[in-house]
Amino acid sequence: MNTLDLFSLTLHEIRDMMRNGEISSKEVLDSVYGRIEAVEDKIEAYLTLTKDYAYEAAESIDKRRLKGEKLGDLAGIPMAVKDNISTKGIKTTCASKMLENYIPPFDAHVFEKLKEAGAILVGKTNLDEFAMGCSTETSAFKITKNPWDLERVPGGSSGGSAAAVAADEAYFAIGSDTGGSMRQPASLCGVIGFKPTYGAISRYGLVAFASSFDQIGTFAKDVEDCAIILNYLYGYDEKDTTSLPIEFGDFKEALNKDIKGMKIGLPKEYYDKGIDGEVKEMILDGVKVLERLGAHVEEISLPYAKYAVPVYYIISSSEASSNLARFDGVRYGYRAKEYKDLEELYVNSRSQGFGSEVKFRIMLGTYSLSSKCYDTHYNRALKVRRLIKQELEEAFVKYDILITPTYPTIASKIGEKSEDLVAMYMSDICTVTANIAGIPAMSIPCGFSKGLPVGMQIMSKAMGEADIIKAAHAFEKNTNYYKNKPTL
Ligand code: GLN
Repeated sequence: MNTLDLFSLTLHEIRDMMRNGEISSKEVLDSVYGRIEAVEDKIEAYLTLTKDYAYEAAESIDKRRLKGEKLGDLAGIPMAVKDNISTKGIKTTCASKMLENYIPPFDAHVFEKLKEAGAILVGKTNLDEFAMGCSTETSAFKITKNPWDLERVPGGSSGGSAAAVAADEAYFAIGSDTGGSMRQPASLCGVIGFKPTYGAISRYGLVAFASSFDQIGTFAKDVEDCAIILNYLYGYDEKDTTSLPIEFGDFKEALNKDIKGMKIGLPKEYYDKGIDGEVKEMILDGVKVLERLGAHVEEISLPYAKYAVPVYYIISSSEASSNLARFDGVRYGYRAKEYKDLEELYVNSRSQGFGSEVKFRIMLGTYSLSSKCYDTHYNRALKVRRLIKQELEEAFVKYDILITPTYPTIASKIGEKSEDLVAMYMSDICTVTANIAGIPAMSIPCGFSKGLPVGMQIMSKAMGEADIIKAAHAFEKNTNYYKNKPTL
């Protein structure tokens, strides 16, 4: 193979080549930066590239390997990290003017673990400002393009991370998922996106949006890669008070398992109007593949599912209004140049530092938490959240996994949905439930509609990630959609 094309391989393929001494970590990095040079102008997945840092890290890995040190799966693997995850000494902007020049003095827990494992940061990726959005169009700095069609959005909010993996600008990428931000862009860019059980991956160092939903997850080129990466991300962290003190074991053991007898539920509310006909067909074709492999499939009903979007937006905006209060130009964030007094310093800094989507969420959240609306909005949403969670828990007594579309349509054109907020928010309909209930979920490529990727969502009960990986791997081995690449 031409070393220039190394970027197109999967993580486990490149790992094996490095282990066998066929190539060095530096050569792998050369290939990835070569790719970035060739396509990044079109895609705009990255906000910051960390070339000096990356080459230094690659050199150290190569030295260790030459000395005969036994290195783990991620040693020398180039990765991308969403720009709302703290990286010591490297800008972390949240794609906001508010944090345009912020350089964190510490590493996020996941980044520290990945670095220890030898993964190499090639750059920080673009996102919707503070991870609020579904298209990566609300970034204060640039609009990332979908590698399959440069006139379309990559999905959001982790659009930069998803596009980077889809365009082979990194072997894997870390992102965050509050209401679908791993799975949606994964679906629209044709890669795997995984969100864990709430508390399974530490949130320490993730800039908070809505703390009771926020989770860190990964984008991967195939299911095996995903299992490998999750092994490094999972684990208890005392610095995150919501971290689960639970051993999940080795996710690679869930690969290559028989799915005979697995029980799959198809919640009919997710196949209803609002879901594009062709998208629905692709998902149902995907389900048939699993059925042929011996899974039992049944249609079920989740009547509370229709309240998921309003519940999500009320609670997440309420939490955001509180979390983002710290960016006042004094304690944190951008400070306006001109102001007469303290009040004006706050008002001007926040007005100039935040973009309109973030301001809208802060206002919606502050309103929902106001004494007038607390009971009718916030408290009521919390109650419905509990009902949605219970309904899912009951479903998982009978079913191992639930399958739905990840996103109601294929990727839309840039600008097409950004004017219609309600349409934009409603497109979260398939993903927010997993965050509301704190359960794990994956989006896996399951076909193409009009030449654009479609993703199938697999959810399991809390801590049931092995079931998701098992089903996804069985599906992938029998379909191979992930092998398709965009022409760039
Ligand atoms: N689209 C959702 C929102 O705008 C989810 C974003 C996310 O998961 N970070 O809030």
